[in-house]
Amino acid sequence: MSSSPAPAGSRLQGRVVLMNPGPVNVSEEVRAALSLPDLCHREPEALALMQRIRRKTVLLCGGDESHAAVMLAGSGTTTLEAALSSIVPRDGRLLVIDNGHYGERLSRIVSVHGISCARLEFGWGRPVDVTAVDRALAEDPSITHVGLVHHETSTGMLNQLREIGAVVARHGRSLAVDAISSLGAEELDLAADHIDWCVGTANKCLEGFPGVSFVVAPRERLAGLADVPARTFSLDLHRHFVAQEHDGAPAFTLPLQVMAAFDTALDLALREGTSRRHARYTALAERIRTGLTERGLALRLPAAHRASSLTGVALPDGLTYEELHDGLKAEGFVVYSTQENGAREFRIANMGQLTEEDITGFLAAFDRVVDKHPGEGR
Ligand SMILES: *Cc1c(COP(=O)(O)O)cnc(C)c1O
Repeated sequence: MSSSPAPAGSRLQGRVVLMNPGPVNVSEEVRAALSLPDLCHREPEALALMQRIRRKTVLLCGGDESHAAVMLAGSGTTTLEAALSSIVPRDGRLLVIDNGHYGERLSRIVSVHGISCARLEFGWGRPVDVTAVDRALAEDPSITHVGLVHHETSTGMLNQLREIGAVVARHGRSLAVDAISSLGAEELDLAADHIDWCVGTANKCLEGFPGVSFVVAPRERLAGLADVPARTFSLDLHRHFVAQEHDGAPAFTLPLQVMAAFDTALDLALREGTSRRHARYTALAERIRTGLTERGLALRLPAAHRASSLTGVALPDGLTYEELHDGLKAEGFVVYSTQENGAREFRIANMGQLTEEDITGFLAAFDRVVDKHPGEGR
């Protein structure tokens, strides 16, 4: 039997350093937990696993007994859609705070479901003007919910969750947060940030595998969804909450192996703690930022707005994104494209189990790739 050889120059046999914003390099403990014995999702062992993970995600968001989590099979967007399409009643209206691709996505999700939506757009990479949020809420009493992306992964901007949460609470509206790329690495607290609906996923800063994502919310809010007619069958958050909380069984099949790995990843995240993980990520990001700045590259955002896990960078002159990506990939490093039309930029994430040596290796590989493509004006 012959197997096709790996592409020339590729290191697919060895470790690839993932510098895309999820899925991430996981720890060996997390990988080992994947090999769960075959299991039925309605047996007690599977249910115990589900309840463990539900409890740990609540703890991770700073929640307590008054909160509950709902686990869904699927990517972060699946659960975002489940949440948004389940929480806004027929006569409700969502205000979307939009300063990038993922903010824009929130309005695209609700528009599919015919949910009334107002969009407060600030532009990509522009900080949210909190007084504008305040004004929008004061001027439009029909707004019942506010949607905010915590870490806007399209630019690397960390939005001012705490200030915005306070404004939303003062106006008595309900806050839904896309914390998909922040949970685990950026400070977030359900009570202090006045979050009603917090959406997260396993495979970004929580350092698990893709396949499961979740919502954490006050139990009371989840129970209150009984009064909101469902817009979908399989993404009906209330159905999932009742099944997981009261029936003691998931409504549909959950990815148990991925969840077993996530259980271990949550143990590691809780043991490390968000502030230490934040410090670990920040130190790696600083190495990347310093290294690229020394090489004359411009970073996307002012330092004060940057999240700890992602850096937007201008492409070197004379190099296309494809040349950079493919050159780095051949060296074992995966970087990410921009999501902004026409922007000469790329993104480098440092989520997951990366080391200082990985960053040193990345910068050396970067130099070799740039040297192979001598551009004009350099
Ligand atoms: C990655 C990401 C998503 C989408 O997550 P998927 O798991 O790819 O569906 C949504 N929002 C933010 C902020 C993200 O970073």
